[in-house]
Amino acid sequence: MFIFDAHVDTLSRLLASGETLDNNRGHVRLDHLRQRKKGGGAQFFAAFVSPKLYHGKALHQTMEMIDLFWRWMDDFSDDLAFAGSGTDISKIRERGQMACLLAIEGGEALEGSLANLRMLYRLGVRLLTLTWNHRNDLASGQLEGKDGGGLSLFGQEVIGEMNRLGMLVDVSHLNDQGFWDVIRTSKDPVVASHSNAKTLCNHARNLTDEQIRAIATGGGVIGVNFCTHFLAHGRQATIHDVVEQIEYLVRIGGIDSVGLGSDYDGIEETPLGLASYDKLSELADILRERGYSEGDVAKIMGGNFQRLCQRVLG
Ligand SMILES: [Zn+2]
Repeated sequence: MFIFDAHVDTLSRLLASGETLDNNRGHVRLDHLRQRKKGGGAQFFAAFVSPKLYHGKALHQTMEMIDLFWRWMDDFSDDLAFAGSGTDISKIRERGQMACLLAIEGGEALEGSLANLRMLYRLGVRLLTLTWNHRNDLASGQLEGKDGGGLSLFGQEVIGEMNRLGMLVDVSHLNDQGFWDVIRTSKDPVVASHSNAKTLCNHARNLTDEQIRAIATGGGVIGVNFCTHFLAHGRQATIHDVVEQIEYLVRIGGIDSVGLGSDYDGIEETPLGLASYDKLSELADILRERGYSEGDVAKIMGGNFQRLCQRVLG
């Protein structure tokens, strides 16, 4: 089974811990990625910009993570390969390798410069999560609430340039005003790379039904997040909470709008049954048991994100 996960924080976790991709105590290891090769797989690795380094070192830290990504591509070239387009993903899949895509989580990395955006594209970045939880010079994260304001003029310029280059605009973490400004501004479909439905779990990081419909209507895809706080309140979340999120998103947005955005290595606790990256395929088994056709399971597990990459990245 081809599996495409739109968000893990393995780059920032390993940069901070000093562990390696092939030997670490996190959620994602090389042997998990290697297993994935059997059915094919694609993964967006996010360069997460730590708030501690927003002032003066955001781009510097982003470069260290992009360097780590490219060292993986060199060191593990039998198993992993860089993908910069939908066509790359298909070719890498045929070769029996894991397609690795680069994302940035936090527009602080641009340090206010469209030139930096264009150079980051040349270094392989194909998705930008505009904000983390705070306000930056593009927009405001969900922690800023209503008073944080929406997309700035610079944020509008960034989206225009991302549309021109062929990059995915990611609305996860944005406050509501920023979300709707992005929907109005982007000419391409957008992603919520790692967000859930608010109706099932009322957390500021989750999406309202109207937001789910807006992403889906535009042709975008939502990656279901495994963070226990976005799945359940006051109890241990399980793999079944993740499946319920998938089913709900399918009901509201349609079968073409749902994918996976595990947030592995960015979350502290994992849901029961999804302790690490090698467990992703268990979700497909449960969806089959719940009566989803093989074609629909394939869309959710990876087909939808691949279709979107083909459309937006080329
Ligand atoms: Zn995040």
